Amino acid sequence: MLIPLFLPPCMKPIQEFYPLISQPRKVVITTHQKPDGDAMGSSLGLYHFLIQFGHEATVISPTNWAGFLDWMPGTKSVLDFDLNKEKGKKLIEEAELIFCLDFNILHRTKNMESWLEAANCTKVLIDHHEQPQESAFQYGISNTGKSSTCEMVYDFIVESGHSDKLNKDIATCLYTGVMTDTGSFRFPSTKASVHRMVAHLKELGLEHSIIHENIYDNFLENRLRFIGNALLNRMDVIYELNTAVMYIPKSDLLKYDIRTGDTEGLVNYLLTIQGIKLAAIVIDRDEERKWSFRSKGGFDVNTFARLHFEGGGHMNAAGGRSSDSLNETLKRFYEVIKQYQQQLQ
Ligand code: 5GP
Ligand code: MN
Repeated sequence: MLIPLFLPPCMKPIQEFYPLISQPRKVVITTHQKPDGDAMGSSLGLYHFLIQFGHEATVISPTNWAGFLDWMPGTKSVLDFDLNKEKGKKLIEEAELIFCLDFNILHRTKNMESWLEAANCTKVLIDHHEQPQESAFQYGISNTGKSSTCEMVYDFIVESGHSDKLNKDIATCLYTGVMTDTGSFRFPSTKASVHRMVAHLKELGLEHSIIHENIYDNFLENRLRFIGNALLNRMDVIYELNTAVMYIPKSDLLKYDIRTGDTEGLVNYLLTIQGIKLAAIVIDRDEERKWSFRSKGGFDVNTFARLHFEGGGHMNAAGGRSSDSLNETLKRFYEVIKQYQQQLQ
């Protein structure tokens, strides 16, 4: 029998990390670029938990984030790596523990990737996406059955025996992510455990209506005009493939002064058309053409995004990218979906 000379490092179960929670350390908590409600909520929820043990913790976001997340408790102390690289690099270099939340492959931290890779400390993964890069983490939990990383941070706190540390700030942050990642509790990922968790958060003083307003009723007029234009002029429905696609040229982003977060959720409008199984939107960002994919039923957009658009995510919600022009990447989309005629019908 051949004995392997080298065994790849293996991610130890998160339970083995629990005894280390109460030992104060220099901690960095980070998440994916352009963090959404779940990324920011889980990072800040964990932050408000860890500081109670005397950890010296900083949340670092690889990039900026949507303005509608600015009200969350602790957001002001989040470091934007793009804007403050020197400080970010120093914090990562000096960190004894790095928590990686709501992503599972280091390149999703964009400019931070090489610094995280080089960091020679303990990295802990908490995430619910498909196909984790396990070799990058010493401890972790990856569970695609979970509604959100926020739910997993809640489990982390409760299962490690520290429920007494849950407070209103943590509840506010965790509710935000579970609400946004479940489409306000409508996706199939909303199991009984999600509602039980929310009940517990309510008992801690959670004011959920304020959070809904802060997230969903916090835009400027220009965003609605932009959406109106996109629905009218930038949408194509391919009925024979039960697919709807939307394409946003850079000129629209400029004309309507569109900011980070303003396009979030736009792809969901496409899924409201009767019979549509695949919805896709591509946005012409400065550095790349960014795709969002959503599906209903058995069409696996995680695999689709991985195979054709350098992306990934979940079975029914994924993202991807392309370096081609908007026209080219759109043309390629029309070509590749033809291969999926059977699955889409
Ligand atoms: P969204 O379309 O809202 O940006 O992303 C949908 C889901 O796919 C989210 O869970 C997000 O984290 C994930 N996702 C988005 N873009 C990418 C990507 O480029 N690569 C991977 N692996 N996941 C992505
Ligand atoms: Mn998430």
